[in-house]
Amino acid sequence: MIIDGKFIGQEIKADLKNEISHIRETYTRVPKLVVILVGDNQASMTYVKNKEKGCQYVGMDSAIVRMDETTSESVLIEKIVELNNQEDVDGILVQLPLPKHINEDLVLEAIVPSKDVDGFHPDNVAKLFLGMDSLVPCTPKGMMVMLDTIGCDLTGKHVVVVGRSNIVGKPVAMLCLQKNATVTMAHSKTKNLKEVCKSADVLILAVGRAKMFNHEYVGQNAIVLDVGINRDENNKLCGDVDFDDVVDCCQAITPVPGGVGPMTITMLLKNTVEAFYSRNK
Ligand code: NAP
Repeated sequence: MIIDGKFIGQEIKADLKNEISHIRETYTRVPKLVVILVGDNQASMTYVKNKEKGCQYVGMDSAIVRMDETTSESVLIEKIVELNNQEDVDGILVQLPLPKHINEDLVLEAIVPSKDVDGFHPDNVAKLFLGMDSLVPCTPKGMMVMLDTIGCDLTGKHVVVVGRSNIVGKPVAMLCLQKNATVTMAHSKTKNLKEVCKSADVLILAVGRAKMFNHEYVGQNAIVLDVGINRDENNKLCGDVDFDDVVDCCQAITPVPGGVGPMTITMLLKNTVEAFYSRNK
């Protein structure tokens, strides 16, 4: 089975569109997302544009705050504080990576947790760890929705997550644990990576190395979620998985593009609606 993230994401966006029409009738305004873009990194500009398109599609308000590459950390934080205090802003997202002279941790901490739709603020991270309601990082949340959609009950399953970043690996491992999976976290220092991966019922790959994982890493009944966004030798977009080599040797797999990626933006929209509701209780 190929898990079609574009299709699943589209269905959720259609529901969100209806929900936002309903919000428009019930409240005096619709949810609003503000994305801050510092500098002119090409990939970031594309991501931000796609986020804006997503907002427009579901009927949400959005704005992009563009700041110069040379913007100082304090000016950026001042802008965030201003948005924190703006009543009609429900979600604030700072597009990463930031220019090297800016401390990412300080910037992310400046966003008020109730508007932290990326779920990167330490308060939201702590809540996720504790199993409390919180804004959950979008890519991990999207993967959980995908597993749910294909009817995968994680109870007792062995989930192997390769990659331990704060934005993908760690939060998705925590979410799987909450769903009663037995979770193994692997990384660049893991020994016998092939054997570890092969023992997974669900294999989540968030490494960032083009086509690193072939059939030798994948068990026959495995569900493979490929988070990687890379370019192959022909400059073609690809995941961490060698898709053609693995597709016939597993139970289910997400393609790149069209797998985990589209779910991430959809979850950002969903988080913004959730932030709206909790701010308008
Ligand atoms: P990251 O912060 O660079 O972390 C990469 C992780 O992979 C690290 O934990 C690293 O281990 C591990 N790793 C590197 N080489 C390895 C190897 N040879 N064997 C085993 N583990 C290895 O990455 P990230 O931000 O989580 O992103 C990972 C990938 O996902 C990237 O391609 C990124 O573009 C993509 N991504 C996609 C989405 C989406 O929406 N689809 C969202 C976010 C990220 P150490 O910790 O030991 O160094």
